[in-house]
Order: sequence, then structure tokens, then C-alpha cells
Amino acid sequence: MRTQRQVVDYSLQKRAVLRELLAGRVGTYDVCDASPYLKNAARFHGEPTDRRCPICRSENLTLVHYIYGDELKQSAGQARTLTELPVLAMTLREFQVFVVEVCLGCDWNHLVEQYLLGRDGLASDSDGTSEQDAAGAEGTGRRRREAQR
Ligand SMILES: [Zn+2]
Repeated sequence: MRTQRQVVDYSLQKRAVLRELLAGRVGTYDVCDASPYLKNAARFHGEPTDRRCPICRSENLTLVHYIYGDELKQSAGQARTLTELPVLAMTLREFQVFVVEVCLGCDWNHLVEQYLLGRDGLASDSDGTSEQDAAGAEGTGRRRREAQR
């Protein structure tokens, strides 16, 4: 997505967890602990992938996008489908997205990345046009008021 910014990638942390698991320092029980809420979010708002689960290798991973931010009010902390995000990004100034991968087979789950979305990120590359638009609209308003007199 074009407005994605301040991206934090958690693949290193994920690899560390998988290493610990392979070494037997943590059990699958510790890492395959997806809550019923997370699994429901994956079923209803999840984005299917063609990547196999690194634990059970029998199911494909589903990505769940959680949104956070003051502007979201009561929607903060809810899961959203990937197609809903650009719409939100056009209407809100800034909100945080957390992407979690989930396996619906074995309950493996891990944070994949986080990033910011919102109109604030568009300001830099559409400054000129938006200012012109604003001036144009103001001009029409003034003309209209003069015509009324
Ligand atoms: Zn799995």
C-alpha cells in the first residue's frame, strides 16, 4: 500500500521463536496458542496466503490485520479485511496496523509486521494538487456569493 509507513518487520523474532522450538527450548503448546478471538478474526476477516504453516506444515497461514488508533474510537483493536484498509486510510489521518499470521490447523500465531496508514502519509506527494483544489473551491464560493448580491 502506497501510504504504508514506519514499517516494523518481526520476521527476525519469528525465526528466533522457530529456532527455540526446533531446539526444544519451547514446546508447540507455548507457540500454538491462538485465542478463539484471533481464530474467529482469521476466519471472518483474514487474508488467506499460499504459505504453509511452519509448525504443522499441513495448513496455509492466514493474515489478520488489527487496527489501532485514537481516531478509530470503538473500532480500535478490531480486525479488518485487507480491502477495508485503503478505505480507512483515505478517511483517517493516522492509524496503526498490526499483522498477525495464524494457522487455523494447529493454532500457531505470530506478529508479522506493524505499520502506520492514513491520509497524513499522502500529504507529501499530493500537496500541490490538494492546495489548488482548496483554492479553486474557495474561489467558486466567493463568485457564488457575489452573484447572489
Ligand atoms: Zn499449523
